[in-house]
Amino acid sequence: EFESSTPHVVMMVSPGMGHLIPLVEFAKRLVLLHRFTVTFVIPSGGPPPKAQISLLSSLPSAIDHVFLPPVSLNDLPPQTKGETIIVLTVTRSLPSLRDQFKSMLTQRNPVAFVVDQFCTIAIDLAREFNVPPYVYLPCSATTLSLVLHMPELDKSVVGEYTDLTEPIKLPACSPFPAKALPDPFLDRKDDSYKYFLESMSRFGLADGIFVNSFPELEPDPINALKLEESGYPPIYPVGPIVKMDSSGSEEEIECLKWLDEQPHGSVLFVSFGSGGTLSSIQNNELAMGLEMSGQKFIWVVRSPHDKEANASFFSVHSQNDPLKFLPEGFVERNKGRGLLLPSWAPQAQILSHGSTGGFLSHCGWNSTLESLVNGVPMIAWPLYAEQRLNAVILIEEIKVALKVKMNEESGIIEKEEIAKVVKSLFESEEGKKVREKMEELRVAGERVVGEGGSSSRTVLEVVQKWRNRN
Ligand code: UDP
Repeated sequence: EFESSTPHVVMMVSPGMGHLIPLVEFAKRLVLLHRFTVTFVIPSGGPPPKAQISLLSSLPSAIDHVFLPPVSLNDLPPQTKGETIIVLTVTRSLPSLRDQFKSMLTQRNPVAFVVDQFCTIAIDLAREFNVPPYVYLPCSATTLSLVLHMPELDKSVVGEYTDLTEPIKLPACSPFPAKALPDPFLDRKDDSYKYFLESMSRFGLADGIFVNSFPELEPDPINALKLEESGYPPIYPVGPIVKMDSSGSEEEIECLKWLDEQPHGSVLFVSFGSGGTLSSIQNNELAMGLEMSGQKFIWVVRSPHDKEANASFFSVHSQNDPLKFLPEGFVERNKGRGLLLPSWAPQAQILSHGSTGGFLSHCGWNSTLESLVNGVPMIAWPLYAEQRLNAVILIEEIKVALKVKMNEESGIIEKEEIAKVVKSLFESEEGKKVREKMEELRVAGERVVGEGGSSSRTVLEVVQKWRNRN
């Protein structure tokens, strides 16, 4: 169906919706704006999750996908960290990736191989088959700077990062405390650090690195990455790339109808991304805090976890009804004022709805950019991965989010604090400032991805390079 001259790109994503969604969005741009075809190659440790299948099957026909045969992870102990599982899934899939490459080369000659941050181990294979490898990092330029400096940090810091008394200082980035580092840094003795370091150290082997940011959002970090004479591959800021649309299931339509009935800018959207969950105590405290705030809200409710904040990373739909875990009488008391969505929400549509006026978020970078393109200011409630780092830059550097303070002794964010910050976002001078700043960035973001904008030109530059290989 596609002409043999249509340039073809192979993309490899590591397990998890949070990794698939951003690359899918990048693929859509290549297909819809530049008439490319794309094949996703997806490793897994079990049958493909339902959410992945439904996303992939909703895509334009120029984007197809192959699930690599599931690898066995039976030898991993139960407490194995997410990063270890992800990197091992990818590594153990390399033999089937090789087969896949062989058959792809005989069918359609790929002009590029684009991987996410946990698939960099596959870069060598692409080289072997003479397909130029690229990394797509769906994160901030500050995170990219951290990634590229990770080998250096690993050498220069002795002992645990968390014992450092000085903040971490990356070129042209705001200093941040070591406890804001991504999870694998927090325990160097755990295998997840080793696997994480290995994946991040391989960014430099790519022919180019895409990052989902733009100069107006992170001027200094981006300039520094481009200028640094350290032999990094070319850095391509192509953001903000966010979800353009999503299928409308019945529940989704229901929730948008509810929003239609609310006053402009009156609703707080509360969500912890594709994998975030709270402890039981924290879940209750959030429920009561939202209630106390008096603000209208939509809350994507998950069943609380008993140990890890990323409990639903690999499968968002829990076995239990999440609403069962809420404080007694909460659901009834908040009918009409709070809409509770179990497990998953049409986030992009909710954020783009005029009734949504704030986002209490785990600060995943995709969520952050979805908020940005709609000018919705945030309350930063980071949980895991690079979210704490995102929260620091959103609060202190970019100034588009308010902070909720944790009670350091109990490790809990209390209901009074939650209610106070929610009110402040909608009513205070401070809230007004972050709202105005977000609006400014919304305008800038729209400009850079528009015709002739810097991100559009950057994509075009690479696309032309790829076309010339054909
Ligand atoms: N998302 C969604 N509905 C949900 C939760 C998440 O559509 O209920 C989407 C969200 O719009 C974003 C992505 O999943 O595109 C989450 O990515 P992010 O980087 O914010 O966080 P992660 O899930 O990787 O922690």
